[in-house]
Order: sequence, then C-alpha cells, then structure tokens
Amino acid sequence: MAKITRKPAPRKTAVPKKKAKSVTARPKTAARKSLKATRPNSTKPWTPAEIHEVFSRFRKANPEPKGELEHVNPFTLLVAVVLSAQATDAGVNKATRELFKIADTPQKMLDLGEERLRDYIKTIGLYRTKAKNVIALSAKMISDFGGEVPRTRAGIESLPGAGRKTANVVLNMAFGEHTMAVDTHVFRVGNRTALAPGKTPLEVELGLEKVIPAEFMLHAHHWLILHGRYTCLARKPRCEVCLINDLCRWPEKTV
Ligand code: SF4
Repeated sequence: MAKITRKPAPRKTAVPKKKAKSVTARPKTAARKSLKATRPNSTKPWTPAEIHEVFSRFRKANPEPKGELEHVNPFTLLVAVVLSAQATDAGVNKATRELFKIADTPQKMLDLGEERLRDYIKTIGLYRTKAKNVIALSAKMISDFGGEVPRTRAGIESLPGAGRKTANVVLNMAFGEHTMAVDTHVFRVGNRTALAPGKTPLEVELGLEKVIPAEFMLHAHHWLILHGRYTCLARKPRCEVCLINDLCRWPEKTV
C-alpha cells in the first residue's frame, strides 16, 4: 500500500490575529458609541401637538428664562458672547464683572487698549486672540456702525471674532429676534430628543426653527440651553426628573 505523505501545514503568520482585528475595530466602536450618545435610533416623527406640549411645559416651568452671561447693554452682550467661545459662562462673568464697569462702550474699550484688556480677561481661554478681536470689533463698530451693535446678521458676522452663533445670541437677546443659537447643549438636546437631528450646528438650528411654533421662539434658545445644561446632561442625563421624558425619543433614556 502506497504510503500517504502529507505536506507540512503552512506556518502560521506571525501577526497576532486578535491584535490586528482590534486595531481596526476600535474606532468603529467608538464612533458607534458617540453616535449613540446623541442620536436616537427610533425616529418616530414628532407631531405638532407633541412639540407644542414640550415647549408649553418648558414655559410653565420657567416663563421668563434668562441667559447666564452677564451684560449691561447690547455691546457688552456682544463682547461677552465673543469671550465665551470655548469657555464657561461663569468663567466669562468672573472676568467681565470688573471689565464692564470701566469699558461698556466701544470707545471706552478702545481707550482701555489691548494690553490692559488682556489683563482683565487673562483667566479666559484664548484670551490673547479674544482681546485682539474685541479691540478690532470695537474699532469697526465705531467706523462702520456709528458705535452701535448692528441689528442685522450680516452686520454682526462682519465683526472680528463674531460668527453665526454670536449673531444668533445677540439678535435674540438684545433685539428680540426669533433666532436659535446652537451651542453644545442645544446640539445635544436637538439630537437626543430627535426634535431636530443634525450632524452640524447649522442643521440643528434650521431644524429647530422649522418645528418650534413661533409663539415659543423668543425663549426656545434659553429653554433648550438650560435643559441641556442642568437636566439633559452629556454623560448622565437626568431623565428621572426630566419634564419631557414621556415624549423624548432617545432610546437610552432611563425612564
Ligand atoms: S428624557 Fe433624558 S434624554 Fe430625553 S430629554 Fe429628558 S433628560 Fe434628555
């Protein structure tokens, strides 16, 4: 009987399979998790009656919501918003409390000068760039807008350091316009609740403007910020005390 000779099995590759797999798997998992943290799987459409109910509850709980950035006039509001980029409102208030006592107009800000302004705001992140912008925007307000905060989006966005969010906050808080400024809190709440899902702040802004009834738009921005800041927290949302937990679409809500 012929002898069967087996070929030796090919040598196993030296690359550890598990390790190779985990290198590619990790980012996918992380991406899935972060998506899950803000975006709902279930997207049962909201009805107009449900959205009305959400904002009626916010209004009942807090009829006159206020922003937390301290200011004494539209100019100081504008400056406070410019300073608040990547900083907390509390941190900005701590610095501006003294600053606004001596520089509450563009001319007074110019008289103060960039160097002394830096001293007032040096506890705020990116203070060097922000000081430069505040001096430049004060100069532009005097040269182009008669020393007043412009009342248009294009005017505000033309000022150094002021973008779309700044324009939305100033137009809403100083001039009573129905704008929706989307910060990190509004972005999270818009996505989690599925009131206005979006991948960018602009998508969420336009989505919210589309669905929120006009009667609530003046205060909607503050209700959503406060809701995100104190209830619908990024890591551990307090669903058990949330006013709208029965309506919220987030699949991971804890009630
Ligand atoms: S139920 Fe939870 S996830 Fe939904 S809005 Fe309220 S706090 Fe946020």
